[in-house]
Amino acid sequence: MRTRRCRIAASAVLAAALAAGLTSCGQEARGGSRYQPPEGKGGTIGLAMPTKSSERWIADGKNMAKQFRAAGYKTDLQYGDDKVENQVAQIENMITKGHRLLVIAAIDGSALTDVLKQAADANIPVISYDRLILGTKNVDYYASFDNERVGELQGQYILDKLKLKKPDENADKHYNIELFAGSPDDNNTKYFWNGAMKKLKPFMKSGQLVVRSKQTKMNQATTLRWDGGTAQKRMDDLISKSYGNEDVDAVLSPYDGISIGIISALKSAGYDTKRHPLPVVTGQDAELASVKSIVAGNQTQTVFKDTRKLAKQAVQMGDAMLTGKKVQVNNTTDYDNGKKVVPAYLLKPVSVDKKNTQLLVDEGYFTKEQLK
Ligand code: BGC
Repeated sequence: MRTRRCRIAASAVLAAALAAGLTSCGQEARGGSRYQPPEGKGGTIGLAMPTKSSERWIADGKNMAKQFRAAGYKTDLQYGDDKVENQVAQIENMITKGHRLLVIAAIDGSALTDVLKQAADANIPVISYDRLILGTKNVDYYASFDNERVGELQGQYILDKLKLKKPDENADKHYNIELFAGSPDDNNTKYFWNGAMKKLKPFMKSGQLVVRSKQTKMNQATTLRWDGGTAQKRMDDLISKSYGNEDVDAVLSPYDGISIGIISALKSAGYDTKRHPLPVVTGQDAELASVKSIVAGNQTQTVFKDTRKLAKQAVQMGDAMLTGKKVQVNNTTDYDNGKKVVPAYLLKPVSVDKKNTQLLVDEGYFTKEQLK
């Protein structure tokens, strides 16, 4: 998909991109940043991460701190405990201390406009990490995964597992599915949802996929702060209200922590690995507990996003900015934050299920022992 987008980008925006000093698809960018560097290494990088309640953010923070130190910088790593006001205070503090660069995975993508104005006034550049920061010009680059692709992988996995190949209004078999989305204040949520819906919607229209709860809109399916407990309660509710005589065959879950909550609700309602099989349940992040759950036959799938590679990308971007070099980007069209199109580098996500968990061992993400 990225290839197609790149081709479109190449023809449609070539002139504009060249004029701005930007090129798409694996090229370099200078025009994305308003930042004028006092060039050179050294100083402190502020790393503002959202929460320690999920393994992935712990790994992102650690990986970036390690790699920025290896590149010749000090680091100040802070976690906001999923509270917007904590994250804003942490960023203000980083600005006051005169850090040279801010790398931010926002808790609420729209809540940083004022604090990033302060960063701009202090000539501190900003990298939006994994989640796009919205509504401000004061963000220089975005490093993430192809978020729409994540949703497509989840949606396609469900179709493959249910052996749904082509939408067919006359098909006699139907499957029941329930849909979960991520946090409404995270810009990634809509990309994951849209990607999944691109795959699932044609089968919902044909009647082969039935959402018995009728909660088919993203705003009916969101899960504030990606909280597993909130998802568990919603799943309990969906089962008790809509599944008297019927079984749930699949659940679209956007994140492993949410999948854990969904599976707990299903198990409480009598689904198990033997007599009353659990439905297909997707996920994201390849967190250890969920990969183990996949190996044990509970969760069905996850999407692996190698946080080490994302950290590397952010470190390269930051180092390039601070030393006045060109910054590598591969998407200059898709990530409009309402005030500007933020030049981005997107990495590829990979679908993982029971058949290919070995990939995580081969990549050195987990050891064989950890997955037992
Ligand atoms: C990230 C996902 C993660 C979710 C919950 C999203 O912004 O892209 O990888 O599962 O937040 O932490």
